[in-house]
Parts: sequence; C-alpha cells; structure tokens
Amino acid sequence: MKHEPPTEHTYPEVEDRLRTLAEPLEAPRPGDWLAEHREKGQTFRQYLAANPVRRDRELTTVYLRPIGTFDTAQQAVFDLTREYLGLFFDAPVVVRPAVPTSDLPAHAKRKHPEWGDRQLLSPYILDRVLLPDRPDDALAYLALTARDLWPGDGWNFVFGEADLRARVGVLSIYRNGHPARGPGAFRLCLRRTLMTAAHETGHVLTMHHCTAFRCLMNGSNHQAERDSRPLNPCPVCLRKLMWNLQADAGAYLRRLAAFCTAQGFDEAAWFTRAAELLESDGSHP
Ligand SMILES: [Zn+2]
Ligand SMILES: [Zn+2]
Repeated sequence: MKHEPPTEHTYPEVEDRLRTLAEPLEAPRPGDWLAEHREKGQTFRQYLAANPVRRDRELTTVYLRPIGTFDTAQQAVFDLTREYLGLFFDAPVVVRPAVPTSDLPAHAKRKHPEWGDRQLLSPYILDRVLLPDRPDDALAYLALTARDLWPGDGWNFVFGEADLRARVGVLSIYRNGHPARGPGAFRLCLRRTLMTAAHETGHVLTMHHCTAFRCLMNGSNHQAERDSRPLNPCPVCLRKLMWNLQADAGAYLRRLAAFCTAQGFDEAAWFTRAAELLESDGSHP
C-alpha cells in the first residue's frame, strides 16, 4: 500500500468555485451514448475509492506510439496532440518508434465487410503491441493511427479505446476528417483528435464516463455527439485530474487556455474563466 504524501490536496475548491461553469447535460436523443449505455457516472469520492492509476514518483511519463504512416498534415495533428497531452496531463510526452502495419498479423486487420474501410483490431494493439512494450515509468502509453479501428465482432468501428487499469490506450484519426483540406478542416481534425486523446487518457487514469455535466469525459456514440462535447472537463472531472496530478490548478488552466487560443478553440474562454475563479480570493460570488 502506498503512503500518501503529507501535502496531499483534494481540491474541494475546484468543485465549489467552478459551480457556475458546470453545464447540465442535455437528455440523450435516440442513438446517443447514454440512450444505449446505462452508466451511473463517478463522483470525486468514488474516484478516490477506485484507487485510480495515478501519476507518482514511478509513473511520470506519457508515451505515444504511431501505428502505420501519417501524411504531412496528419503528422502536424500528431505533433500538436503530443503538445496538448503534455499540457493536459502535466507530464513529458515521449514518442516511441512507429510500428508498420505490415508488422501486424492478418487477424488484426480487416476490410469492413460493408463499407470497405481498412481497419485495425484495437484490442490487439492494446494487448499485444503496447502492453509488452510499455515502459516502467509510463503513466499512459497511447497508440495513434491513421487507420480505422474496430474492437471485434459485432462492432463497426471505434474512435478510440483504453484500458482503465493497464495504462494503455489507442486512438484513430481516420474519422476525424482530412486535415490537408484547409485551415477549417485542420482545426476540426485537431479538435476531434485532442478530444479523443484526452478522453482516452482520462480513462487510462481510471476516470469513468461523466454523466454529471457537459464534459470531455462524456461518452459519445457518433460523430455529431462527439463534436458537441467540450474539450474541457467539467468541474468534477477537473477535480479528479487535479488530485491525480497534484497540479497548480490556476497555472495548469492558463496553459490550456493559451493552447486553445493559439489553435482557435472556444474552450480558451472556459479555461481562462476557470483559472480566474480559482485564483480569486473567493470573497466574490
Ligand atoms: Zn470513453
Ligand atoms: Zn465530467
């Protein structure tokens, strides 16, 4: 059993002071994630009780591993995703050598039987590519690919998949649009990729889907639902992250605000407002 450091902070002010930034989740429509999956959510207390995967002296670094090739614009998305993950998980991000898709066995690849999309089997990547190669200090080890992913029989595709305990995850940019088609397409592809990368890494840190508020950690079943989600976590999920990382919340939020401003994402305003609320002396309503 690990000994908790005496400076352990549980960040109650994150939920208290950001209350006004918590946006209610709309009722799910047919086909949405919560219409098809019964989920109870996860409070901050439940998160602590789950003994989550946590950044500590041993688990310090996020690793990325490309699977297959990326064109120039996709590579630019990859590089910005690396930068964003470093800010979001307040950790160094190291890129491991790419795995050629020719290294994957035939049973881990298919053409979708109706659509013809070339797909890679996501559980194979998690269990057979990442897990045996996971560095000892990996807080999270994530594979990124430009190929589509499918998780096995009965599924058409997934945007990404992660293990809530084994510190591995995989995500695809295949369904994120064509970033070479202009600045708008690039921004959309980047936004979707950051969303899935941060969401899956949140799962790696044992964060469950959020059912409390509009949040990065909401499940999404389809593209329109994913595009409607914010890049920012809700105050409850932000509190989980801050506790996990024991970060300086104000400085952390300002770094994310700066990144979102540089890339033209509306969430810059949310991160800035959250930083202001946490940095105020709390005497104002
Ligand atoms: Zn998820
Ligand atoms: Zn949340």
